Amino acid sequence: MPVRPLVAGNWKMNGLSASIDEAKAVAADLETKPSLAEVAICPPATLIAQMAWNLRGALVGVGGQDCRAEEKGAFTGDISAEQLKDAGATLVILGHSERRAGHGETSEDVAAKVEAAIRAGLRPIVCVGETLEEREAGWAVAVVSGQVEDSLPDVLADKPFAVAYEPVWAIGSGLTPTVPQIEEIHQSIRAVLVRRFGENGADTPILYGGSVKPANAVEILRASEVGGALVGGASLKAEDFLPIIRAAG
Ligand code: PEP
Repeated sequence: MPVRPLVAGNWKMNGLSASIDEAKAVAADLETKPSLAEVAICPPATLIAQMAWNLRGALVGVGGQDCRAEEKGAFTGDISAEQLKDAGATLVILGHSERRAGHGETSEDVAAKVEAAIRAGLRPIVCVGETLEEREAGWAVAVVSGQVEDSLPDVLADKPFAVAYEPVWAIGSGLTPTVPQIEEIHQSIRAVLVRRFGENGADTPILYGGSVKPANAVEILRASEVGGALVGGASLKAEDFLPIIRAAG
């Protein structure tokens, strides 16, 4: 089982400089009572350096939401793993469904980005998840297992990383799978991780993401093989994010 749960906030394209106060409020609360969980916030790229500076020495890490596979070059508007690291990030979300669907990212593209993250010394959080159509067709386990297989390069055998199961239909919708549905997918992901990466695969946290909120966090985080959460909307405010962190330990 994973050594330590991970709870990460994905701010997506939300937040201005003033929002750093929310991250500082999370850090201040954890300072008074540390969590068993590792905690991180992934703000938009514009806020990474500022947040990392404000959270230096704090119990909250800072992460990116995507990176390009290349180290540098003529890629207008993109950001490399090395640039994220240089700005103060320690981890990066990769393969989020909003990037897979909205930017046409394939699992092979995601695997190349994971290699870039490792090259730069970042811990990747690799997202996978089925659409509603795929679930209704009975393909959820097969789709997610295939994404895990193809998105994770061999280099992860001895590197820290995390996988986030985020059913596409649960993201931002208020809908969540049942606990047995979550456990079925998490167990199938674990099987792939152990087969591919042995002991490291057995220890890697598998996060659940998709409409996690204070009201459902305890139930979800207690489910078998759930090693933390990737939280979107409810990570924007410290008062919502903190109870979710506390539910993880
Ligand atoms: C996400 O997009 O990673 C996510 C989990 O969003 P939400 O919690 O808002 O559903």
